[in-house]
Amino acid sequence: MEVISNSSNIKRFRVNALGVNTLEAENTRKKMKKMKAFHIPDLYKSSIIGGIKESRRLQDKLKKDYTPTVLDYGAVKFLISRHFGFCYGVENAVEIAYRTIEENADKRIFLLSEMIHNPDVNADLLSRGVKFIMDTAGNQLIAWSELTSEDVVIVPAFGTTVEIQNRLSEIGINAYQYDTTCPFVEKVWNRATAIGQKDYTIVVHGKPTHEETRATFSHSKENAPTIVVKNMAQTIELAKYITGEKPAEQFYEEFAGQFSEGFNVTKDLQRIGVVNQTTMLASDTQGIADYLKQIMIQQYNIEGSDVTAYFADTRDTLCYATNDNQSATYGLLKENADLAIVAGGYNSSNTSHLVELCEQKLPTYFISSADKILSDNLISHFDLHEKVEKITKDFIPSKEQVTIMLTCGASCPDAVVESILLRLHSFFPEAEPIVV
Ligand code: SF4
Repeated sequence: MEVISNSSNIKRFRVNALGVNTLEAENTRKKMKKMKAFHIPDLYKSSIIGGIKESRRLQDKLKKDYTPTVLDYGAVKFLISRHFGFCYGVENAVEIAYRTIEENADKRIFLLSEMIHNPDVNADLLSRGVKFIMDTAGNQLIAWSELTSEDVVIVPAFGTTVEIQNRLSEIGINAYQYDTTCPFVEKVWNRATAIGQKDYTIVVHGKPTHEETRATFSHSKENAPTIVVKNMAQTIELAKYITGEKPAEQFYEEFAGQFSEGFNVTKDLQRIGVVNQTTMLASDTQGIADYLKQIMIQQYNIEGSDVTAYFADTRDTLCYATNDNQSATYGLLKENADLAIVAGGYNSSNTSHLVELCEQKLPTYFISSADKILSDNLISHFDLHEKVEKITKDFIPSKEQVTIMLTCGASCPDAVVESILLRLHSFFPEAEPIVV
């Protein structure tokens, strides 16, 4: 067993002969054991949605049933996804953030950036006096020079970079005291460390500008050359440097901003391993890992277990919530409906993938709150592809019974889903009442 440490010398990991980070596994298990009742402010809860979730949980403790919950009110029927809403990491972050505010009434409290990608939660934290140091793209809103060692800084659920951890440390602020980094994100960092320690270059499948991927990239490059690919199209281009189809010089321009300092495209793509942002689309992530593995097999003319000499044998690093929510969305889409409503922050990665899945089958409206349903025939919704909010007319068809699929991302409060449900139901006066 080997003991290693990261540059900040704060987190220590043990990696056994199989490359399994035992301390990582132990810590994640411990944290998962705490899949307990987190203390979540009442404003995020819903008796209707909470009741549905609890009843499904009791009937299906092993989470094998992905069929939706059917709420049939006659004129309108709702199909509610089996899994949605606040995940472990979000509940953990919300609990820590609100406790931090309570315990530090006399101090200035900052968040490095949005704590999670949900506008309601972020707005409420701002209304309680919390200030954001950066926006989601990493642009500085408050200069580091304005911070002092007396201030409290909360690290968001996505985690943060080694550079920012060090910056806080220089100011005299302990970056780990109010750290809401999700244990499933730390697990990705640990996996990258374990692979990097075995001399693999790390390929991170993630959105290069997303806070989590920026943090993962930063931690990964401490131990190994690292490159980020955002999708299959970029992976195919990367593979052309592995095979020599593209000249090495071109790489540095094509992947500018996505590789670690000193990356040597000729040498550093001979032995690779893939990790992912926790919230990517499972099928994309699998496709990218399979594609790169195949490229290595062809390039080095190898067979069977020999492939591990060139391609690290690991599983994806998607988190349980991403898997549950996407599987439940596939379950939802086995049914028929007239439209789907997906709720969540427009910058939420996991929510956007649920939207992508739904819109392949039926008209899908991505909304951040019930207020976006302007009337019984107008809805303001986010177009993922054009990155703009649009207004669509007559989104509810005129028919005897309208069926609506309803789900949301891992950072969306139950209260938001409830308000959407109630707003839609209110457009059907002849429908049976919702009994709470
Ligand atoms: S979506 Fe997954 S990784 Fe992100 S906070 Fe939730 S559990 Fe953690």
